[in-house]
Amino acid sequence: MSDALLKLDTVSKVFGGIRALSDVSLTVPQNRIVGVIGPNGAGKTTLFNVITGAYRASAGDVVFDGQSVTQWPSHRIVRAGIARTFQNIRLFAGMTVWEHLLVAQPHQGSMLRRVLPSRWADPKAWARAEEALEIFGLQTYRDSIARTLSYGLQRKVEMARAMTAGPKLLMLDEPVAGMNHDEAEELRQLLLRLQGRGLSILLIEHDMAFVMNLCHQLYVLDFGALIAAGTPAEIRTNPVVLDAYLGSE
Ligand code: ATP
Repeated sequence: MSDALLKLDTVSKVFGGIRALSDVSLTVPQNRIVGVIGPNGAGKTTLFNVITGAYRASAGDVVFDGQSVTQWPSHRIVRAGIARTFQNIRLFAGMTVWEHLLVAQPHQGSMLRRVLPSRWADPKAWARAEEALEIFGLQTYRDSIARTLSYGLQRKVEMARAMTAGPKLLMLDEPVAGMNHDEAEELRQLLLRLQGRGLSILLIEHDMAFVMNLCHQLYVLDFGALIAAGTPAEIRTNPVVLDAYLGSE
């Protein structure tokens, strides 16, 4: 009996002549925080896109919660329990924080719903939005236009929005990019609390202090292939990783 929540088995992704991912196998165990690191262009975001169904794998298998999701469309993968954020912040113009948290939910459906009076919203969606506000400490900004907030707060809104989908696995693409040290530390504590509540987290990050102090397991990608996997302590001293990536940090 494996405790793997997510398992990639020799996954490849080819774009024309570019092999963005080459036979990548990795595991995210239940209730663990796993990091993916590697130089620019290593294939990290492509990996996220394949897991979430934005791209179809060219070969290999993606198994989530005991089911092969390799051929599933994104919306089905979200419903199965994977939510993500993006490297570039994707917030809607003119929408409040609260509106972002309501419309993102699978059950709330289309953007059109936002024009309906909020009392018509599904009470469960309402409760999930309230919970996400509270988890991320965004209550004060509930009625603020999300795009007018600081960069760090916008990142939080994105993560809160992902959480309203009720995921088992939260995937974060460079969550601390643009955050100052205090914001990053606050986020680290918050992600540890979420893990403490049973969530699994897979994240891409270039901030090595953040990654090393948070993740239980790290995978290192270089030119689309895994060059190392291990605990932060193992990765920090791995000569191959030092040569390909960390040595230049
Ligand atoms: P960064 O740290 O800069 O975000 P990354 O590790 O996330 O980089 P990817 O964005 O996954 O890397 O890119 C991996 C490779 O795949 C690059 O050579 C990139 O140009 C290529 N690639 C990614 N998406 C596409 C696409 N849609 N079409 C063609 N090539 C792509």
